[in-house]
Amino acid sequence: MAGSFPIRPEVLELTPYTPGLSIDEIQQRFGLGRVVKLASNENPLGTSPQVQKVLRDKAGLAFRYTQSGNPRLVNALAASLGVEPECVVLGNGSDEIIDLLIRVCPTPGVHSVVACQPSFSLYGLQSRFAGVAFRTVPLKNDFSFDWQGLRAAVDESTALVFITTPDNPSGYCPPVEEVRAFAASLPPTCLLVVDEAYIDFCDDMSAHSLLGERASWPQLVLLRTFSKCYGLAGLRLGYGIMPPRLAQLLCTVRLPFSVNILAEEAGLAALGDATFRQETIATVSHGRVYLRGALEGLGCQVLPSQSNFLMFQLPPSCPLSAKDVFEKLLSQGMIIRPLTSYGLPGHLRVSVGTREENQLFIQLLTEVLA
Ligand SMILES: *Cc1c(COP(=O)(O)O)cnc(C)c1O
Repeated sequence: MAGSFPIRPEVLELTPYTPGLSIDEIQQRFGLGRVVKLASNENPLGTSPQVQKVLRDKAGLAFRYTQSGNPRLVNALAASLGVEPECVVLGNGSDEIIDLLIRVCPTPGVHSVVACQPSFSLYGLQSRFAGVAFRTVPLKNDFSFDWQGLRAAVDESTALVFITTPDNPSGYCPPVEEVRAFAASLPPTCLLVVDEAYIDFCDDMSAHSLLGERASWPQLVLLRTFSKCYGLAGLRLGYGIMPPRLAQLLCTVRLPFSVNILAEEAGLAALGDATFRQETIATVSHGRVYLRGALEGLGCQVLPSQSNFLMFQLPPSCPLSAKDVFEKLLSQGMIIRPLTSYGLPGHLRVSVGTREENQLFIQLLTEVLA
């Protein structure tokens, strides 16, 4: 039926978010038993055993609405971060906070949003959906940030600037002095949103974040998530740290109960499980060194990464395209991430897995390149 109902033009123009492929999809497509997914930067150690226990114990609470605003988790997070609870907004993934910021701050047709190209696609998708002008500034050739270009793209109409540290998909993490200088250069009418989804994987986390000096930056928003280092991607839990007035406004417009009761319980348990977090960080940091060495051994060009993934290019002599290699690996049950949707058709991204998964990836890639 050709309906005649109204659809906003912004919606008709949207291209949807491109997710990593799922294990089920690939098992079915190729009739495979085992499939390894190193495509979405998920936690290589899976779900913390303590979180699993809490989820089993609390399953009977599924019939209840959560307490509005999830104050228990907000307070626990605020205490662990050393910030006031009034600054913390939880979301259904940090994706929800990105969406809320874009719906709360810029007025469609009036304001703009600025980000790097390439960067996490949601910044642009949600801006376009909201009808807000989205300006991008290319990264430099070495995938570092073009601060001058970003500053030049910001004018009095700019409501939000998004940067990702460490960056996705490159793994690059800018020196904090550069972020500080950029923050200082912005007009007081513009918020700086620093997406720290992968900050836990930096060699020195506190040295790479402005969290500790938040008080000096009234326009700073930090985004963090339980999806990566805490292993809760499927439960959807993230948060923003921001000025209290903005936090209050986000809470006013968001849908009630977007963080569900089991996600809240899991978040509390995950925060309490320091061992799992440390093991995750150690696994990622060893795996990153191994993968980098092995990829370079195969002649690949690997970007330095402060994150739980590596971006690389195939050896210059390789007759196969990145897409060919991605598809050959896929047919062997190894899912990695092509970066065409990021505008980088010649690059691939692989998440750091367990030691065994990393070795299997290198073995299969060696076979494909041979
Ligand atoms: C994974 C990721 C997130 C986190 O998304 P969630 O909604 O919290 O799962 C945010 N930003 C970037 C750049 C990411 O890669």
